[in-house]
Amino acid sequence: MPQDFFHTPLTFLPSVGPRRAKVLAEELDLYTYLDLLHYFPTKYVDRSRVYTIRELRGEMPYVQLQGYIRDFKEVGEGRKKRLVGYFSDGTGTIELVWFRSLSAIRHLYAEGRMYIIFGKPVYFNGAYSITHPEIDDESKAEQVSGGLMPVYPLTEKLRRAGIASRQMRQLLYILKEACLPHIKETLPEEVIQRARLMSYAEAINQIHFPESKEGLEAARRRLKFDELFFIQLRLLSMKRERKTLVPGLPFPRVGEGVKGLYASLPFDLTGAQKRVIREIQSDLVGGKQMNRLIQGDVGSGKTLVALFSMLLALDNGYQACMMAPTEILARQHYASLREYLEPLGIEVGLLIGSTKKRERRVLLEGLSKGSLRLIVGTHALLEPVVQFHHLGLAVIDEQHRFGVVQRSGLWQKGESYHPHILIMSATPIPRTLAMTLYGDLDISVIDELPPGRKPIETYHQSESHMYEVYQFLGAQIAEGRQAYVVFPMIEESEEASMRALEEGVRRYTEYFPELKIVHVHGKMKPEEKDEAMRSFSSGEAQLLLATTVIEVGVNVPNASVMVIEGANRFGLSQLHQLRGRVGRGASQSYCILVTGNELGEEAKRRIAIMVESNDGFEIAEEDMRLRGFGEIDGTRQSGQQLSLRIANPALDGAMVQYTRELAESILSEDPELSLPKNSLLRHRLQEIYYERPNWSQIS
Ligand code: ADP
Ligand code: MG
Repeated sequence: MPQDFFHTPLTFLPSVGPRRAKVLAEELDLYTYLDLLHYFPTKYVDRSRVYTIRELRGEMPYVQLQGYIRDFKEVGEGRKKRLVGYFSDGTGTIELVWFRSLSAIRHLYAEGRMYIIFGKPVYFNGAYSITHPEIDDESKAEQVSGGLMPVYPLTEKLRRAGIASRQMRQLLYILKEACLPHIKETLPEEVIQRARLMSYAEAINQIHFPESKEGLEAARRRLKFDELFFIQLRLLSMKRERKTLVPGLPFPRVGEGVKGLYASLPFDLTGAQKRVIREIQSDLVGGKQMNRLIQGDVGSGKTLVALFSMLLALDNGYQACMMAPTEILARQHYASLREYLEPLGIEVGLLIGSTKKRERRVLLEGLSKGSLRLIVGTHALLEPVVQFHHLGLAVIDEQHRFGVVQRSGLWQKGESYHPHILIMSATPIPRTLAMTLYGDLDISVIDELPPGRKPIETYHQSESHMYEVYQFLGAQIAEGRQAYVVFPMIEESEEASMRALEEGVRRYTEYFPELKIVHVHGKMKPEEKDEAMRSFSSGEAQLLLATTVIEVGVNVPNASVMVIEGANRFGLSQLHQLRGRVGRGASQSYCILVTGNELGEEAKRRIAIMVESNDGFEIAEEDMRLRGFGEIDGTRQSGQQLSLRIANPALDGAMVQYTRELAESILSEDPELSLPKNSLLRHRLQEIYYERPNWSQIS
């Protein structure tokens, strides 16, 4: 069988056909045999037990019952019409309910015949019912009961196209039978032995059709291992390759730029800042291309460290740029760099999407001639028209938004050489996640805040107590402080978010008629935005109301209160970023998280973490525990790029660490994977590399 077998379109799988194939592609991104084979169940239900109806009590999980349908009845009118089957097993009766395909269902199942049914009983009005149960003939009891039954995440559209949980299992059964003989081992025997792994084919078999809890566990472990191990192997070999093959521009000189900045600072650098600057500096003198990530909590002083590095480039006759993920962030970096650099007589440019044509021309000319040495911008900097005279360092403020592919865009800017790359991660991420997302980079951590920062006090308040929030704000403002109020993005809908903000502006203006209140949002003209920010920064306005645009970067030390309305709609890391906007001045600062009165368990837990902890790394870790990898602000894309289907680098930390060490030891013995025993690894990497074009742009 040719290797292409696994790339067979799903249309060719018996019982799929063009219509279902289309829905599988649209809804789940599944196109080929391989895709479906790697569509893993998200949970398993224990079907080794048959319950009796009398045993049902309280809140029940999915259960299996054995009995017969006494009779059917259609209930309700029009859209509310439903079919009810009365199901008995001798110990009691429950209702089976269908809202769709009523007549088909009625024909499918005969009254009085014995069935095995499966579903989640819900107690309502004194009786149990199961909606859309799975039903099997009793004669099939042997096949359906017994063992763990996989549950696949499915959508309503799939169900309507006739692919419900049961059909999905059937498809996978057919597919598995067809594929198993062709599934090849992906790891060399030595690795399998060393890591004590199940074979790949067996893992694929057991993940879909587990024979036991132990078998399932071993299968999950094997599949997680594969995902994480090949990522580490790839990242580490990229890192090695760059370190040996890519020459770097040497920056040996510490000149007037670096010295000038150092002399002009009104404060001392923290120990952590000094250490990280030294790490960067030793990269930059070494003659190798630097690829380094700076991680640090909000306000730990990453930007300043980046500025030192850029000045080192300038001192050595090169240009430097700083790229931010949004226009407003680029503007803020621009403003804060200017503040540092103007006294030193160093010019900075700003290039963003909305930069006017004429201004743009001047900037581009300055860059290509080399007269403009420092520029801040958005991804506008990546456009081919942007040509540097001699770009030595690119700083990327990443916030998880660029990803590996765009990063490589800057490498190309250097043409015959690669500029050094320094990435600032705006959100702290747990170590094992950093190892996975940024595993090809060297990592520096700024684990210390500038002295004198008082920990921010965080409180939770429900909407019905807004009056107290207003009073508190009023008291702080009476003491000369300023405050932010942030409104949530509502289901990605800009209009709804705007309405929430407008309603807020009305509310706060009504309560505080004597104050100057300004507001900003994403759709505003840059001039209006600037004016609002200016008025707040200068202290003219006491209240700044905003949608999430002020998430990062704003720096108004006099602001001492951050009110976040609809706080439960924000991610934890986002809340932490927002909170980081206060607590920068001398006075005690506060963060007030406002939510509705009724909160779900998870929302309560998340708010509680915010109230308890001020540590960005701890919060990020908790966030990932609660929401899972891939749901964290914007990392979803990175997750897809990495094709993680089963492993979660935040939760499977030990596995990340283990696979990294193993990959490291294999590469240190055989950097090119050219030994015969590693040929499988080399091929597998190429295969992954080949199938995922995103990766190919990296090197
Ligand atoms: P980050 O980018 O990590 O959030 P910034 O670089 O924006 O942090 O710094 C936050 C604020 O702290 C800025 O106003 C900056 O001037 C100030 N700052 C940075 N380093 C120090 C330091 N060592 N001592 C005092 N203030 C500092
Ligand atoms: Mg910053």
